[in-house]
Amino acid sequence: MEIELTSQQIQAQEIFRTFVNTEIAPYADQCDQEEKTPPETIKKLADAGYLEGGQNMDAITFGLLCEEIGRASASLLSLLTVHSMVCQAIMKWGSSSQRAHWLPKLSTGETIAAFGLTEPNIGSDAKSVETTAVLSNNSYILNGEKKWISFGQVADLFLIIAQCDGNPSAFLVERNSPGFSTEPIKGLLGFRAAMIAKVHMNDCQIPKENLVGRVGFGFSHIANTALDHGRYCVGWGCLGLGQACLDTCLSYTSQRKQFGAYLKGHQLIQQMIGDMITNIKAARLLCYHAAYLKEKGDPSLIMETSIAKYFASRMVNQVANDTVQIHGANGCSSDYPVQRYLRDAKIMEIIEGSSQMQQIIIAKSGYHGFALERRKLQQKEKAKEKA
Ligand SMILES: Cc1cc2nc3c(=O)[nH]c(=O)nc-3n(C[C@H](O)[C@H](O)[C@H](O)COP(=O)(O)OP(=O)(O)OC[C@H]3O[C@@H](n4cnc5c(N)ncnc54)[C@H](O)[C@@H]3O)c2cc1C
Repeated sequence: MEIELTSQQIQAQEIFRTFVNTEIAPYADQCDQEEKTPPETIKKLADAGYLEGGQNMDAITFGLLCEEIGRASASLLSLLTVHSMVCQAIMKWGSSSQRAHWLPKLSTGETIAAFGLTEPNIGSDAKSVETTAVLSNNSYILNGEKKWISFGQVADLFLIIAQCDGNPSAFLVERNSPGFSTEPIKGLLGFRAAMIAKVHMNDCQIPKENLVGRVGFGFSHIANTALDHGRYCVGWGCLGLGQACLDTCLSYTSQRKQFGAYLKGHQLIQQMIGDMITNIKAARLLCYHAAYLKEKGDPSLIMETSIAKYFASRMVNQVANDTVQIHGANGCSSDYPVQRYLRDAKIMEIIEGSSQMQQIIIAKSGYHGFALERRKLQQKEKAKEKA
């Protein structure tokens, strides 16, 4: 496995870094405090070509973009995440006319997309969503509520998962559809600038052609494609957030003195810094491995992405927690971004499948692999006995 970046990837990384340092990082705290992302920021992201949703970037380069954006703003990373989740779902499962109509608009940011799976009563058990879709003449009529929808306050297009005759199915719903409305959700722990919304659909009417894939594909194919991609973005974003924590700590501990010595000279501080560096590096290798598999189109990508997301989101919680600890009272103050890092880190363990859901998926896959190996061994032994 190649883990060295190519010269083009290094060049892209530098461009992303410069963009993030000038256009995103200086405003991230203000956006967090005001609980909004201004349209100009979204436009800048679109104009730079970063909303193309991983359609024209290799997997590592797209990962590097997520990492750099995650370094400055987890909220803005979530725009990239949900928007590109919808792009990927349309690319893979959309009809040719859906692809031709939506992908160019999504690529340029003319259309902003959101992903509508979670509901007030349904979170982790996502295939049991309660929103319904009923075919009536040439339209689907949707009824139900979605909750915690990132960038739901501003998105133009929503990928909505609803039950159609008891089968989870996916639909493209435009904001201006009759019977569709959104309501802001404020005061969240983290991702405060992610323009989170509730979505209401009351006899919401959409053209029959807006079904994505087939009836019954909504969770097994479409939401899962989107969620795999979402985990990939989140894993890489956690690297960025972890790196932001580490960079802040390296600087702070080199400037603040206690007991006549810089904090960096105290061994208990060094222990935390040493663990941060090690754990960020381990998460980076998992993300690179996932990128390598994604590039190869290897089916084990799904499991390896879950592992990367799980590890990276756990890692960043420990790292952000230690970052606040190292900053002491300053770490709790809005004068420093580290309290935002800690608040955002927690969200990483909940979105795109919580840590517990990842643990379950990973453990199941472990047992599955174990059973396969055992069967292979038994078959070999039987063949030997016959020979
Ligand atoms: C900031 C933010 C942004 C979000 N953006 C979006 C979005 O854009 N689109 C969208 O659709 N959703 C979004 N979500 C929702 C998110 O995907 C859900 O919160 C997540 O799937 C968990 O669902 P839940 O919150 O209902 O928790 P629940 O499913 O109720 O789970 C509660 C707790 O129980 C645990 N648990 C559940 N089942 C089991 C089990 N079988 N075994 C062990 N433990 C279990 C969970 O891990 C969790 O710790 C967002 C959430 C947040 C906080």
